[in-house]
Amino acid sequence: MGMGKREIRKREQREKKRVAAERVDVLFTLAERVFPYEPELSDRYVEIALAVQRKAKIRIPRKWRRRYCRRCHSFLVPGVNARVRLRSRPYPHVVVKCLKCGHIMRFPYLREKKGRNRWKPRRALSGSGPSEGSS
Ligand SMILES: [Zn+2]
Repeated sequence: MGMGKREIRKREQREKKRVAAERVDVLFTLAERVFPYEPELSDRYVEIALAVQRKAKIRIPRKWRRRYCRRCHSFLVPGVNARVRLRSRPYPHVVVKCLKCGHIMRFPYLREKKGRNRWKPRRALSGSGPSEGSS
């Protein structure tokens, strides 16, 4: 009869993660908005976003993944406090250097082909695996 406790539990978990992802997105959006006036406040927003992310065990949304320093947790703005370079070797990737602490991050670069790969299963993006690789 109806849903078992497990299903309810699962559904609640999913809902929690969805809400957490939304909050992370809002916090990063705020960080970006206040950066020109109060960069320290941007860093605070990043800290809060990362706390939410850790607690909910979710991934940082793709669009924000390159926008903070993994080491010092600064909000990063290319050309202001971050240097961004594209490299094609040994594989296509983006190199982001935090100009505050010097930390260098590499992100594999997937060329977006229009009309292709548009329907990646969402699970692959918000998966429950280990959080984003920091290689
Ligand atoms: Zn840094």
